[in-house]
Amino acid sequence: MEQTALINAIHFLHQKGFAPATSSNYSVRMTGCSDFWVSESGIDKGEFAHTNLINVDSEGAPINDERTTSAETDLHTTLYKLYPDAHCILHTHSIFGTVLSDFITSKRGILLENYELLKAFEGVKTHKTRLYLPIFENTQDIPSLSKNLIAYQAKNTDMRAFLIEGHGIYTWASSVAAAKRQIETIEFLLECAYRKMLLTGQKEIAERLNLLEKRV
Ligand SMILES: [Zn+2]
Repeated sequence: MEQTALINAIHFLHQKGFAPATSSNYSVRMTGCSDFWVSESGIDKGEFAHTNLINVDSEGAPINDERTTSAETDLHTTLYKLYPDAHCILHTHSIFGTVLSDFITSKRGILLENYELLKAFEGVKTHKTRLYLPIFENTQDIPSLSKNLIAYQAKNTDMRAFLIEGHGIYTWASSVAAAKRQIETIEFLLECAYRKMLLTGQKEIAERLNLLEKRV
């Protein structure tokens, strides 16, 4: 059932434009299992089917399967080890995830706070919350990225998601439904952050809008 939920989520994220040109990868781990199911590499996510899920062991090696998984499968194995309660990992390559992670000059992270939609995150009960998305360097050396992730998580145990510079977003949760809510939330809030930046650069227009509001 969780596999079907994952396939539906993959199609949904593709329709939203978050997984162009066969990019992005996803996985689901059943309760009580150390092995998990990860998306096959190079498949158009709009046509993704059950047969495109590959069963891999806790180290990411395919079980009785000749097909190739994404090099980023290593990040899934690392995350499942770091978060024993995680059962689903979603990774998108969206426009806002790509642009903002590349544009932020500090390259350290993006802080999203006081947004109502943050309550869509597992365990979050109030909008008065802070979601910090660290940005990791987009190295093609995934074991080194995994090491950076482990080192960061050791000091920041409240991490719920992260960005890879000019590349995309990762988030994880205890179910496919919860992870899907989280990735939708991040995508929505990154777009909000982007649009806010545009508006900040358009102060005059914003002031005119205020004047119009006063006339009503
Ligand atoms: Zn990727």
